[in-house]
Amino acid sequence: MNNISIHNKVLPIPSFFQVFNYGGGAGDKTRELVYAGLSDDTPALLNYYYINNNYTHSFQSPYFNNILSFDKIGDALNYVTEQIITKDCCFYKESNVKPYDFNQKVILLDSGSSNIVKYVAKECDYNIEKFKTKIVEHAINYYDFANKLKVDMVVAFDLGGKYTFKDDEANNVKLQTFYRQLDNVEINHLLLVETIKYLIRTPNFYPYVLATVHGNTPNNYKNYTKEILKLEDSFNYHFFGFALGGIASSKNIDASWYEGIDLPKNKKARDATLPARAINIVHNIVGNRYIHALGCGGYPNIPLNYYCGASSFDAASPARRVGDGNGLSTSYIFSPKSMIPAKAKFSKYFVGGYNADGSQRKEDFDYTSLYNIENDLSLCGCNACKKVNNINELKQLYAQQADNAEAFYYAKQLMNVHAILQHRKLCQIIAQYGSMEDFCIDNPNKLNRALLSVYKQLVGV
Ligand SMILES: [Zn+2]
Repeated sequence: MNNISIHNKVLPIPSFFQVFNYGGGAGDKTRELVYAGLSDDTPALLNYYYINNNYTHSFQSPYFNNILSFDKIGDALNYVTEQIITKDCCFYKESNVKPYDFNQKVILLDSGSSNIVKYVAKECDYNIEKFKTKIVEHAINYYDFANKLKVDMVVAFDLGGKYTFKDDEANNVKLQTFYRQLDNVEINHLLLVETIKYLIRTPNFYPYVLATVHGNTPNNYKNYTKEILKLEDSFNYHFFGFALGGIASSKNIDASWYEGIDLPKNKKARDATLPARAINIVHNIVGNRYIHALGCGGYPNIPLNYYCGASSFDAASPARRVGDGNGLSTSYIFSPKSMIPAKAKFSKYFVGGYNADGSQRKEDFDYTSLYNIENDLSLCGCNACKKVNNINELKQLYAQQADNAEAFYYAKQLMNVHAILQHRKLCQIIAQYGSMEDFCIDNPNKLNRALLSVYKQLVGV
């Protein structure tokens, strides 16, 4: 698949989507917006639940209170960023990073449905029949929201595959009973039909829509994809593409996902197998149509994702690895190892990947504690790395937390964006190769060799 144009913005194939989670957390999430200029036109994934204040949630931002008064999501994000900088002063002025115009980005909206399901279940007092009616209303509100704000692409609303519960929720008998009785397959089918009906009666719907695929086993995944195609036929409606859910984590998955595959010893390649298999299944059924793998854009997954048929993917891992660092650690970044208290956790820096000129770096890919990064490690030359002269300068910013929290946040965003741009770079590199084998021959390393072994088994070449 070649690069495509989404509302006159170029979307390279494949593309890594940066996750912006402002409204879903504090601290680092706020600075993701402030320094967005560093990742430039890297496409973005936003979560509807976090930016729609009709759902009361812990981290909601007052700057989103009137989000529907904007005509474009880009304008809304520009406004929010300006407020954060001018009113909250969450900005390291010496960074000289210019505010970014979010209208230049391709923006994909996901519903964050697992939070919405909980919200609606409570609203219906855990009555399943009431829930079925209400959840469709919430889905329609979601599409209206995306349409009003002219979001570029939208992931169709569905129940999601996996649920996680906080302590109080795990002990909530009503909630747990409700989940046990909920027929996901039936309700997802209902939501899919109602989605198609809505889109047919809204012919000028602005966002490109990705139908969501779920399934606990390869067979269920296959059948669900076929069901979507059948509904497309019967309603004479065509989705732009597909969003694959429930395959980001291999925890507690059905053993059949690995059937017939001799898994590699390399853990990173092993973890990349589940999304690759799901993508391959869907790609074999839908052919050369757009596929986004939700949450599956971790660095080691990217080559397998692409050669198995994915057009794009997202991952929050760059932000999460940076978020691993706590305030306590900043006092010890230059201290001898013996002095570091056990509770001090350092942010992790992306090592390996490529330099800005496209040359492969000699380190193997990993996220490494900033403490353990040698001061003479060469920088990659990306937009974020260009902001400092060396690793020592990055550590100096990191160390300022007690005196200047903004310097610390800025250091973390430099690390976050450096990792994001490495994901983007890998996408650009693999796009130059017609086959996984050719890519691996020119870019030999342990990870790629392990990924290739999985690939050959999956696609049987
Ligand atoms: Zn860099």
